[in-house]
Amino acid sequence: MTERLYLLDSMLSAFDATVLACEPDGDGYLIELDQSAFFPNKGGQPCDTGTLNGARVLDVNEQGERLWHRTDRAIPAGTKAHGELDFARRFDIMQQHTGEHLLSWCAWHLFGAQNVGFHCALTYATLDLDKPVGHDGIAEIETTANRLAAENAAVTAKIYDSEDDLKGIPLRKHAEGLTAPIRIVTIEGSDACTCCAPHVRRTGEIGQLKIIDAVPYKGGTRCTFLCGMRALRHAQAMQDTVSAIALRFSTAREQAESAVQKQGEELSETKRELRQAYAALDGYLAESLKREAEDVKGTKLIVKLLESVDAKRLRGLAGATMDGRALTVLFSDTGERVSYLLASNGIKTDAGVLIGAVNAALNGSGGGRGTLAQGSAKKPAGLKETVEGLFTYFRNVLLHE
Ligand SMILES: [Zn+2]
Repeated sequence: MTERLYLLDSMLSAFDATVLACEPDGDGYLIELDQSAFFPNKGGQPCDTGTLNGARVLDVNEQGERLWHRTDRAIPAGTKAHGELDFARRFDIMQQHTGEHLLSWCAWHLFGAQNVGFHCALTYATLDLDKPVGHDGIAEIETTANRLAAENAAVTAKIYDSEDDLKGIPLRKHAEGLTAPIRIVTIEGSDACTCCAPHVRRTGEIGQLKIIDAVPYKGGTRCTFLCGMRALRHAQAMQDTVSAIALRFSTAREQAESAVQKQGEELSETKRELRQAYAALDGYLAESLKREAEDVKGTKLIVKLLESVDAKRLRGLAGATMDGRALTVLFSDTGERVSYLLASNGIKTDAGVLIGAVNAALNGSGGGRGTLAQGSAKKPAGLKETVEGLFTYFRNVLLHE
């Protein structure tokens, strides 16, 4: 059995203990101490890390009343051990955890929403509420929690020896299945609930509380939040992002949103104009292709290399040349690659078969069936000559069809 020193003093960052057991475990060791300040993986939050006699404590897990510290070196049973926590990590997690108490109390107090899930990761934490809470409600919870944090209320833990002793305490949440002794954590003037984790001593130590996301989740709301330095780092990153956008638009940060919106509207209008211009251009281009078509035993053959025409336009252009018996093979040189499209009308051979010759000539991949096939390839050297060679090939196909 390990005495849990963190239950008595959450600010204890170093302690002395005696090793009760040391067992090899994979590439490390599991060590049990007679007492420990290391909090295990528990209650949705990660364990403390640190050192034991210089050995790294990488993981801490509970097994009944025993606490196992996973280390990278053996420390034999009977040895006196000095433990040191990575206290920056511990304090950060305590800030998120105590912040969770405040936010949960505000959600319950303001909207009757219960906390039904908590997860604390090393960069963010989530809190699940059992009711939908909208944007304004989330803002109210956040504002109230920050006001309570600034009041710097005391956070205290007390052990109760029986359920009867709890009568009269306005508990926000009473975890089911707990047996005495029961630990109640109270924030002066607001929250009281059962809890086994370490907390900061006063709400002022939580720092700022920021809910950065609130989304519908299992009929309620999942809030992602940050406390303390995490909230500050987020605010700094957001400011940098908005500043970069504002600089890009040569405007003040406050005007960045409307500048982005205006540019989006201008872009939509430009795209519409571009579509109209391409439609007019492709009309002329299709006429030009039809004039260049070679008549091969009654079939109009077009094999043409174009520049930077996207797949949709290639389809439109090829479709516009399908006037009577026709075979059109269009290539688009986009710099690094070449894309191609084959369309036919009144031809016996399937387009999926005909495209095979283009795939082979360009070492590309493509396919299709019936009267339409398409593909693409890495742009080869001598693309123009290859396309000319394919014109000859398809002319021969039509001559012998
Ligand atoms: Zn707690």
